[in-house]
Amino acid sequence: MPFDKHFVDKSMRVDLILAGDALAQSAYIIDIKKEPHWGGSHTALIDTFNYGEYRFLIINKNSGDTLYTRGFCTLFEEWRTTEEANSSKRAFYHSVTFPYPKANISFVLQSREKDGSFIELYSSLINPKNANIKVVKDSPYEVIPVINNGDSEHMLDLTFIAEGYRKDEMKKFKANVEQQARYLLSQSPFKEAKDKINVWAICSPSIDNGPSEPEKKNWSQTAVSSAFNTFYVDRYLETYDVKSIRDIACAAPYDHIVVLVNSDRYGGGGIYNHFSIGTSDHALSKKVLIHEIGHGLFGLADEYYTSDVAYQDFFNLKIEPWQPNVTTLVDFESKWLKLLPQDYPIPTPTDNKYKDTTGVFEGGGYVAKGVYRPAYNCRMKSNEAKGFCEVCEQSGLKMINFLTK
Ligand SMILES: [Zn+2]
Ligand SMILES: [Zn+2]
Repeated sequence: MPFDKHFVDKSMRVDLILAGDALAQSAYIIDIKKEPHWGGSHTALIDTFNYGEYRFLIINKNSGDTLYTRGFCTLFEEWRTTEEANSSKRAFYHSVTFPYPKANISFVLQSREKDGSFIELYSSLINPKNANIKVVKDSPYEVIPVINNGDSEHMLDLTFIAEGYRKDEMKKFKANVEQQARYLLSQSPFKEAKDKINVWAICSPSIDNGPSEPEKKNWSQTAVSSAFNTFYVDRYLETYDVKSIRDIACAAPYDHIVVLVNSDRYGGGGIYNHFSIGTSDHALSKKVLIHEIGHGLFGLADEYYTSDVAYQDFFNLKIEPWQPNVTTLVDFESKWLKLLPQDYPIPTPTDNKYKDTTGVFEGGGYVAKGVYRPAYNCRMKSNEAKGFCEVCEQSGLKMINFLTK
């Protein structure tokens, strides 16, 4: 399907409200924009991964052909698994982008059911020539090409935006992005793909230095309003201000947005095909950020199960989860079975002789029982791990190859 027949080389951005509680949800469009760059591939238009708690489809109104699809996750669906969602309703801002269509399309939004299947949550006809679609021509922010390996169409564009850096701290921001990028490209699977990666830094200034720390009654006025203590978990650094993130990010082409927060505190967050967020100056910041990018870009699950989280029953043990690096053994063949030698014990006993092998270790995805992970240790499990495990590495490389097709 030729890109040029259906799309122009710009982005259509659809901003949504997702609202509801633990039991029910609905979606509403708030705004549609035409943005100046399309950072994605011109050939990898149909998502082949089937990751995410949601997905959207762009369907040509006349022919009925599906032109573009993407799976994604949201902070909203995480919140829906917290205690709070049993007794209150909330609304979350979300935003998706796709190449700008030439003709009328149906925008279809689907959400994943408990059994793993998708149902329609929202659909709407969009005329790309509608006079009320806001055209964003330019951005007020300075954009620094930190690593430039070529045309965004064939590159994985990682776009960092400055959060909690005052105007006079942009030199520090640039240095922090350079440090993060250098580390990232020294680690698998980024190392293996390093000639396919661009890194951009967008100098979005904040009034205050550092993010908000609600539990310390410390509120900062910053570019994208990030804060620790999300869902009452200290280290969970997130922001609900998705509009500002996207308004800033459109200054550069991007495949993935990384919000870099000027702070020496431990924490971060990463949501698949949404954005990743981490701090600049904690001793473990680089490791935390690559873990978050594991969620945000590669769709990986947490392999840990001993730390405090706000979620309840995050994984349905009766189905195979969509995340590539955890299994419930319901359909293990669809996961990393092919990486195991014949007669390898499933699940893997906790025996030292298996410690350094790819296996099926019980515990992962926030629970000690019923969810299995591929390695004794992995970057998705802890900061002590050497790096990503074999399964995470391979899944990540597959995603990078797809996005740079
Ligand atoms: Zn995580
Ligand atoms: Zn792993």
